Amino acid sequence: MEETTVIIVGQGLAGTWLSYWLYQAGIPFKLVDQPVRDSASLRAAGLINPVTGRRMVTTWMIDELLPFARMAYREIGGFLHEEVIEDISVIDFFPSVQMLQAFQKRYENEPTYLLPGENREKYAEWFQYELGWGSIQPCLLINVEKLISRWRVWLRDKGCLVESVFEYSKLLVNDKGNEYSGIQSRYIIFCDGKSSAQGPFFEKLPFALNKGEGMLVEIQELPEHLVFKKGMSLVPYGGNIFWLGSSYEWTFKDDQPSLQFRRQAENWLNHFLKRPYRILDHFAALRPATLERRPFVGFHPHHPSVGILNGLGTKGCSLAPYFANELANQLKGIGEVNPLAAISRFDKILGRPL
Ligand SMILES: Cc1cc2nc3c(=O)[nH]c(=O)nc-3n(C[C@H](O)[C@H](O)[C@H](O)COP(=O)(O)OP(=O)(O)OC[C@H]3O[C@@H](n4cnc5c(N)ncnc54)[C@H](O)[C@@H]3O)c2cc1C
Repeated sequence: MEETTVIIVGQGLAGTWLSYWLYQAGIPFKLVDQPVRDSASLRAAGLINPVTGRRMVTTWMIDELLPFARMAYREIGGFLHEEVIEDISVIDFFPSVQMLQAFQKRYENEPTYLLPGENREKYAEWFQYELGWGSIQPCLLINVEKLISRWRVWLRDKGCLVESVFEYSKLLVNDKGNEYSGIQSRYIIFCDGKSSAQGPFFEKLPFALNKGEGMLVEIQELPEHLVFKKGMSLVPYGGNIFWLGSSYEWTFKDDQPSLQFRRQAENWLNHFLKRPYRILDHFAALRPATLERRPFVGFHPHHPSVGILNGLGTKGCSLAPYFANELANQLKGIGEVNPLAAISRFDKILGRPL
């Protein structure tokens, strides 16, 4: 029987970051993952945008999350000898008078992260817009695919990776530890995204999976290293390729790319873009979102050896490094998880018999 301290299930952003911080803390682990092409992490645009939504609100905890993310992605990039993060600005073309006014109002009251677009015609060569634009900055752009694939190679080389589907039927849990497929561990932590919403330990948590569709589009000669947003966003993906998305659907009949989104995206491109384009890919993935839009971090009240890092919703790039670090610190005995993210807030729900 092999022995380790933590078994991690899943290597999206959550499992990648938890395993990285555990390694840095000297806590042994094994990571079980069966990659799928359409995981939320592998389909993410990779953007950390501090101001979002119709009312241009500053996102939750962003003043802590943004500098932490910048530090963390630089650190892991240095560790892997890869660039996985860059600073970027979002050029926000106002799609309606309401959005223009929301930007102006927000800028008057709290200008942090915003800059009005002085030269209204600056992007008119490439895009069709009527109401001007503003800039959101600094934003961060993470190359999630590169990070996950390079970290996976590192995990494999270190002998920490078990490449297979995790099966609950092979798991034996007791308060002092767990046994899974020939591995004994003190803890098991689920970082398996949407799967936890159907797993036996955490299915009672208020998950609200959210479907997102996007595309990869080839466009010639756009100004580089900017995100262009007008309702949907075009995000640099490398060379002439842009990530275009996305939809946010709370009710959906399946997790597949839809004709409806394709039409909507083509329509958007035809009206907004003044350059020829070619669609290279169309995809859909489910975000592990939650009803109250806060993550799920911590250990099960009745199974203290079983934990979770999940519920990252639409903000996995900023939430994963921060809360994985809090969880690793808790395991190390040098900190606690923020009560707003800790699953102890659901002890009553999770306490009901399985
Ligand atoms: C279209 C789209 C765009 C997005 N854009 C952004 C963005 O720009 N910025 C941002 O911050 N967030 C974005 N997000 C949200 C972000 O992608 C998620 O918050 C984040 O990726 C969730 O990461 P995770 O590790 O929890 O889950 P996942 O990425 O789903 O990872 C779970 C992993 O567990 C594995 N797994 C699951 N079950 C099993 C099993 N039984 N056995 C073995 N392995 C298993 C899966 O294969 C996967 O590798 C976007 C999401 C979508 C869908």
